[in-house]
Amino acid sequence: MLKEAFLYKRLDKKKVQCLACKHRCIIPEGKTGLCATRGNENGRLYLYTYAYPAAINLDPIEKKPLFHFYPGTWVYSLGTFGCNFRCSFCQNWELSQFPKKESKFYSLKAKQLIQSNSTFLPPQKAVENALHYRADGIAYTYNEPAIWAEYAHDIAEIAKKHGLFNVFVSSGYETDEALDYLDVIDAYNVDLKAFSNEFYLKYCGTKLDNVLDTIKSIYKRKKWIEITTLVIPGENDSEEQLKGIAEFIKNELSKDVPWHITRFHPDYKMLDKEVTPLQTLEKAFNIGKEAGLNYIYIGNVLGTDKETTYCPRCGKPLIERYGFRILSYHIKNGRCEYCGAKIAGKFR
Ligand code: SF4
Ligand code: SF4
Repeated sequence: MLKEAFLYKRLDKKKVQCLACKHRCIIPEGKTGLCATRGNENGRLYLYTYAYPAAINLDPIEKKPLFHFYPGTWVYSLGTFGCNFRCSFCQNWELSQFPKKESKFYSLKAKQLIQSNSTFLPPQKAVENALHYRADGIAYTYNEPAIWAEYAHDIAEIAKKHGLFNVFVSSGYETDEALDYLDVIDAYNVDLKAFSNEFYLKYCGTKLDNVLDTIKSIYKRKKWIEITTLVIPGENDSEEQLKGIAEFIKNELSKDVPWHITRFHPDYKMLDKEVTPLQTLEKAFNIGKEAGLNYIYIGNVLGTDKETTYCPRCGKPLIERYGFRILSYHIKNGRCEYCGAKIAGKFR
């Protein structure tokens, strides 16, 4: 199956410009963009991952992580090959970095590699599977879903008609054109990986300002949003960087936007770093508190009381969690069961 992309424009000399992410690649005929999944054939842009996911699972929504968007629900989760980032610490690098090197960004080679190593799953069938497994929603996740926006969009439109919600787990590089096109998406978890442009350039091949702009654009569109930061020892764990992130959330978004601070484990090219010490995660947690954020969570650490949702008014524990499991739940009609304070998010 070959699907022409929606998010692009045609240029002269059979070049095209992709509009899905902020790289805005100008792609000559016969080549792909930086993500190695969108290729120019004869002056038209095609999405080679359309209907070809490479990872499919049924996950608790807490795994995304989304803690304030229908907690306790299940999401049919899809990801494809490719990514517009090249993070040295990527935990899904076997998905995200394939087929960049293998295809050398030649479009026909990329198409062949992607499609012969993926599962064929057209949008209608994806939704049928989600309904079959009694999922509550669909998550576009594992790699950056903006690069397969057209596939996500078509699944999401069908899913919505069947009463399912749609969530994006993103690194925050969508263009405004992509966000408009993806209006059917209900909620986002976006990585804010560091508060340093050097970090983004060195480890991800992208720019901090572009990510900050995308996060603000998502928030302005009144989508539910939660932010995640993977704290890497010696790289993004300084007081200055963590404070920068916490204050950005508070000042540019809202004190009610949840911040997930997650523990790093060595992976891919970053094997020389240690696992994030618990004290560093607690330092970040306290920085978030001092900045005035209402909902801060420590992730990838089992058994901490900092994965609990507390009422910002009376301080009582409202959702106690153990990993992705919910142990107790005290929110009724979106309010604290004890004092009646409104809790930010979407709750059933
Ligand atoms: S989605 Fe891919 S092809 Fe499009 S601009 Fe981003 S990296 Fe380039
Ligand atoms: S954005 Fe996410 S999936 Fe893509 S390379 Fe970075 S960590 Fe991996």
